[in-house]
Amino acid sequence: MSSFWNPDLQHLSPYVPGEQPKQEGLIKLNTNESPYGPSPKALAAIVACADDGLRLYPDPDAKALKECIARHHDLEAHHVFVGNGSDEVLAHVFLGLLKHPQPLLFPDITYSFYPVYCQLFGIQYQTIPLDAQFAIKLDDYLQKTKALGGNGGVIFPNPNAPTGRALPRAAIEAFLTQHNTSVVVVDEAYVDYGTESCVPLVQSNIPNLLITRTLSKSHALAGLRVGYALGHPELIAGLERVKNSFNSYPLGKLAQVGAIAALDDQAHLERITQQVIKTRTQFVKELGALGFECLPSRANFVLTRHPQHTGETLYHALRSRGIIVRHFKAKRIEAYLRITIGTDEQMHSLLKALSEILATAG
Ligand code: PMP
Repeated sequence: MSSFWNPDLQHLSPYVPGEQPKQEGLIKLNTNESPYGPSPKALAAIVACADDGLRLYPDPDAKALKECIARHHDLEAHHVFVGNGSDEVLAHVFLGLLKHPQPLLFPDITYSFYPVYCQLFGIQYQTIPLDAQFAIKLDDYLQKTKALGGNGGVIFPNPNAPTGRALPRAAIEAFLTQHNTSVVVVDEAYVDYGTESCVPLVQSNIPNLLITRTLSKSHALAGLRVGYALGHPELIAGLERVKNSFNSYPLGKLAQVGAIAALDDQAHLERITQQVIKTRTQFVKELGALGFECLPSRANFVLTRHPQHTGETLYHALRSRGIIVRHFKAKRIEAYLRITIGTDEQMHSLLKALSEILATAG
């Protein structure tokens, strides 16, 4: 704390992303990156653009990218907002669409950036507990809204993170018919690993639904920083207002051309996401054989615990063997580890390490 700071900074507890280790040779299964490379077509487009295109500013409206995203989702460009990773998109969503007199509602266990944005932007919020099986119960949100005497916004990831549990689209659609006077944001960061998307609901023009997406996970482009939102044109216009009051050029030229080429290579996306799903199925089976309990995951990670060992002990034991997974100190999940699905070979090394750890611990 310095006397030069804005005093509000004193109360901020910034988000802490998973470690990006400098040490080579570690098995890194802690930040849900894809173990496979991005589309070679995306890399070629980035190289070609770098050769020729960096002297001038990028298109501030990223028109070609928005049109490409719209085409992929059977929407129009005015349904699309783009940003520097979905974290930036979410920041604009919190400020532009989720700051209201009634508190914003989100799950007690969810993406830990949400309360940070609330703090940053001075947004009131309340958390709604997941049920005993760590599932989101949308009825609880309706009841809370009723008890509060009005609609605040709602945000949750589908599938949720770090649980990996997903809701069917029909449940969200039913919720939207009742919760219809404030914005509902569905964060689809991990949707490509086997969850039903809510994009068809945007196609049917629901006015208060906003979906956020990222190219960081399933498209293997975490380093490029491209995220987007899909929603009714009036919601998108609100986000553009925030963006144009903040940064005219959130996406560089390399990000715009790389994202277009990656989105156009659906065959690559399909290949690498299907492989992760296959690896996940096998990995969960093998974890079960070692006595681990796993939540049913529709994401590229698994939340798991061992009844006889704490999450923290296992985290450190793996770390000392050169394997990084994620352990959260949050109350209901401190017994668990969140493990990103890597290659078959990486998961094999992890399982081998875990069985050694369990054997030595007796
Ligand atoms: N939403 C969720 C649920 C996430 O886990 C993440 C990744 N940390 C993001 C959004 C943000 O991803 P990015 O900024 O890389 O698009």
